[in-house]
Amino acid sequence: MGYLNDKGVTYDYFESLAFQKTLKEKGIVQFLSLLKIFGKFQLHEHQFEHLSDPNVKQVETKMQLFWGDEFEGHVIKLYDDKKLALLNPNTGGLFQSLGEEQQKKLPFVILPEFGAWMIELTPNKPYQCMCFNFDQVLINMRKRIQTLQSYLPQGNQYVLIPVYPMLGVGRFTTTVESDLTASMIEKIRSQTSYIEGTPTLQQDEKQFQNEKLIQPATPYKELPVEPICNYFSQSIYFDDRIINPHPRYSTLAQNIRLRRGSKVEIKIPLFIDQNTKIEQSEYEPNPGYITMDHMGFGMGNCALQTTYLSIDIDHARLLYDQLAVLAPLFAALTAGSPIYKGKLSNWDTKWDCLEMSVDCRSENERNPQHPNHIPKSRYSSISYFISNDKMNLEEYNDLNFPANEEIMKFAKQKASEMNIPLDDKLLRHLGILFLRDNMVMFKDKIHIDDNTAHFEAIQSSNWNSVRFKPPPSYNSKIGWRVEFRTMEIQLTAEENAAWSIMILMIVRLFFTNYIPVNFYMPLSLVDENMRRSKEKGAILNQKFYFRTNFQDYGPATIEELSLQEIFFGKQDGSFIGIIGLIHQNRNVVNKQQCAQKEEHIYLKNKTLQDEVIEFVRNKVNGNTKTLASWMRDFVTSHQNYNQDSIVSHEINYDLIKTLTAIKDRQKEDPHFPLIFSM
Ligand code: ADP
Ligand code: MG
Ligand code: MG
Repeated sequence: MGYLNDKGVTYDYFESLAFQKTLKEKGIVQFLSLLKIFGKFQLHEHQFEHLSDPNVKQVETKMQLFWGDEFEGHVIKLYDDKKLALLNPNTGGLFQSLGEEQQKKLPFVILPEFGAWMIELTPNKPYQCMCFNFDQVLINMRKRIQTLQSYLPQGNQYVLIPVYPMLGVGRFTTTVESDLTASMIEKIRSQTSYIEGTPTLQQDEKQFQNEKLIQPATPYKELPVEPICNYFSQSIYFDDRIINPHPRYSTLAQNIRLRRGSKVEIKIPLFIDQNTKIEQSEYEPNPGYITMDHMGFGMGNCALQTTYLSIDIDHARLLYDQLAVLAPLFAALTAGSPIYKGKLSNWDTKWDCLEMSVDCRSENERNPQHPNHIPKSRYSSISYFISNDKMNLEEYNDLNFPANEEIMKFAKQKASEMNIPLDDKLLRHLGILFLRDNMVMFKDKIHIDDNTAHFEAIQSSNWNSVRFKPPPSYNSKIGWRVEFRTMEIQLTAEENAAWSIMILMIVRLFFTNYIPVNFYMPLSLVDENMRRSKEKGAILNQKFYFRTNFQDYGPATIEELSLQEIFFGKQDGSFIGIIGLIHQNRNVVNKQQCAQKEEHIYLKNKTLQDEVIEFVRNKVNGNTKTLASWMRDFVTSHQNYNQDSIVSHEINYDLIKTLTAIKDRQKEDPHFPLIFSM
């Protein structure tokens, strides 16, 4: 997130063309410098030799697996008298008021995001040693959500759902620049110390008295309700003033459009109900689809991401590949995005919406017949496995994805000048990343070699299913990390903690070299899984490609399996599933990663793990609904729903109101279980 410290004036895309090549080359040199410094970096307490060597002696040691999560939520204001739930884009005050000192008192970090109504929360320190950690994520998530909520003036809710359903429908925000900012600053400043678990801020009824509320326009034909400020995006639905005011965000929106040569076009298939009208209009130019035209329709959505420190660069590369295979599965498992722009869609996840929302490829690059064709947006599933491990067979890299050959040549030559070993796979990885242009150039930063900023400019705008992260700076104490990026945010702290722990259980298997685990399969099948993961009810209705010989180093035996089978195994016992693998190795993993004297922690973790496994079991067998299918059912059984696919502002209000009551545990709902006994 270092890039948010950059302020100042940016170049538009055409102006930036003069510097693209130079800055990419600088970015490559920066990466190579990181490689030179950290190429041999190893996690301090790691005592194993090489990951896939099964003959290494088991050593009892306390492993320092640092890891963390990050998630975003929407600030939504509920107007009970008018039955409206509108985005509140006035969160700026929160960031102004939270100085460094104030932040230090909190066990988490508050960060801005693309939408001025969004807030990202991460733990302020990564969770420490694996063996201490399982409840830390739950405690921290609960605290984050509760504290943030206490900062918001009355009537506002911090809501964890991936997509705000009414984005782009008439008037969907509160007034921009209300007195919310000033009020937040005052409140946060008056809070002198953080008191564990107690919301400390006073609520202020008068807060919104002066706020002018413009009635939203429904149905669609009344759009737009007022002249839209769309300088950056040219959107017909979405006002650019609700983009976060940091110049990075509006510049991205503008330059993606300029590079592409047209507005972004997001087309999501409409869910066709018995009274659905399939007709063309100015606001729905593609009959049968929900059409959107602003980066914010994607980047205004919320995710749950997790990041793991690896033992060394080789381990990070292996973990990156392995997690890439799991990425589509976890998208389907956490599906929570059935509504876009006030309409029910045929999809349950937001991944493709994000792909389309930042698709900066030119017309030629989008054309499969053109020699410059690039098959995917810069937001996409990964296109290349990068590990040199013997498990990574050539046949798995079957996408034949284009790369920036010119920059690869440069990187190869520079690496040899700098005397840095740069193998072919890592080289190609760079070539694929650097196929994309730098979208945000600050005029005063062009000639400054500010640590790794030029590398990060490319890296942080390649939004892929997993991210291979080098140490963030030349003097970093952090090693090589991998980020897992496809999970949809869940409503409650408990669900988000549960999914984070589920992934952690899998990641831990890769920290013990004598347990063979191999999820490799051809990337074309991983991509096919990604396509399937978004389909309505995919968690129960779809089958996914998965390798059933996942404890073998050799070629993959692949079957199409349900998520229930992938996790809990096949009925005939021929495949034990991921949970089977975890069970089989749990004692070894837990004990190895906790010194003997910490037995009680190991036992506590075991209970938590069992609770998570139970939660996952209930998801994949359909006992509990995904957030997506819960929302879908809520809308279609609402008394005001006309079987026409339309979600009105009133239905949206009831939906948000009910979700809020559930997340605050004022209303019980079996589909949002408490999961944990603690
Ligand atoms: P980005 O937005 O670029 O993905 P953030 O800075 O928002 O990254 O989040 C970084 C994530 O990495 C957080 O989840 C944080 O807890 C985690 N993290 C921070 N330090 C470490 C570390 N040493 N090892 C592993 N994860 C870490
Ligand atoms: Mg982040
Ligand atoms: Mg992230």
